[in-house]
Amino acid sequence: MKTVSTIALASLIAITALAQEPTLTIRVGQLLDGTGSSRKNVIVTVTGSRIVRVDEGPGPTTYDFSGLTMLPGLIDTHVHLTAHFDNDGRNHSDRNESPAQTILYGAENAYITLMAGFTTVQSLGSLQDRDLREAIARGNLPGPRVLTSLSPITANTGTPDDIRSFVQQLAVDGADVVKVFASSSIREGGRLVMSDEQLRAVCREAHEIGLRTVVHAYGTEGLTATIEAGCNGIEHGNSYSDAVIELMAAQGTYLDPHIGSLWANYFEYKDRFIGQGNYTEEGFALMEQARSDGYETFKRTIANKNVKIIYGTDAVAGAHGRNAEELIYRVRDGGQDPMDAIISATSRAAESLGLADVIGLARPGYEADLIAIAGDPLADIATIRNVQFVMKGGVIYKHPAP
Ligand SMILES: [Zn+2]
Repeated sequence: MKTVSTIALASLIAITALAQEPTLTIRVGQLLDGTGSSRKNVIVTVTGSRIVRVDEGPGPTTYDFSGLTMLPGLIDTHVHLTAHFDNDGRNHSDRNESPAQTILYGAENAYITLMAGFTTVQSLGSLQDRDLREAIARGNLPGPRVLTSLSPITANTGTPDDIRSFVQQLAVDGADVVKVFASSSIREGGRLVMSDEQLRAVCREAHEIGLRTVVHAYGTEGLTATIEAGCNGIEHGNSYSDAVIELMAAQGTYLDPHIGSLWANYFEYKDRFIGQGNYTEEGFALMEQARSDGYETFKRTIANKNVKIIYGTDAVAGAHGRNAEELIYRVRDGGQDPMDAIISATSRAAESLGLADVIGLARPGYEADLIAIAGDPLADIATIRNVQFVMKGGVIYKHPAP
């Protein structure tokens, strides 16, 4: 008897706790839940921060978005939250700025990214990202969930031993992921600059202590070395052989390609970047070449369905809040299936972040990170720009005009 009443009491407490959390229901015309399925006329029930039910059919609801399409909150796995233009319009580079100014630019970028329908970002990265991550997580500053690499590892970090110590320190400092520069900047040719020993040191040490690794790498040589070192993901990629595509598929390496919006942003704002570091005429010519190489390579890559393509934009100054544009380039110019593009920016991106059980799906038990857009992105991917509703963790940040 005692056992039974203990169980009854426990379930009563659980029910009471659930009942105390606010519940709301949202009717949508279409739900793309992140798995690849599409359902019409769905009611999503949210209690507290979680999705608790997804039902079909009529019934009263708190919100009626019958004209909208709902998706899980979008995920951008590669942004630079603190990158910005200064008041004079130029890209912020090495000029002095107070930490307060930097963090306020970061907060602005976080806000406009959330309003664009991105409820999670991975910032790769700067030390200030950690403060942004923690400020947003406190719940009052509107922004996406933030994961960050803090400081990156480069060929100059040192010997394999130096690199292993650096990785351990990143873990102590609270990094969510390790960002590695295996190749030089595309504006300097994008050649492999790390030794196999260095790459193996970082990716193995990170794996040992439970940190993911994402590697800036270009070209057949750079990608082959990265994949063979056992690193988790490739950033950029850009141009590589069919053998590399096979290798990524076989190893399950995540690929975060940047084919359209990154280049478009640099060319649109060329006068704001030119003259700084490697933002030279030669650098821009190399980016123009990378843009055409990237499309050709992307088309070859999506032909292999086993390559785990995720979604990231490498959003720098000028690109924040326009994070969905790359989806349009992917589908319109890259030939990616729109549903696959959406999966890459929801459930597959979540999986790459180690959050497959938490975000990326509109399904009971998941965090209530939900967006709704006017239109059908399967019919016209450009409707992804029309974000009318944004909820993160059950909190509404954007709502359609009444
Ligand atoms: Zn980047």
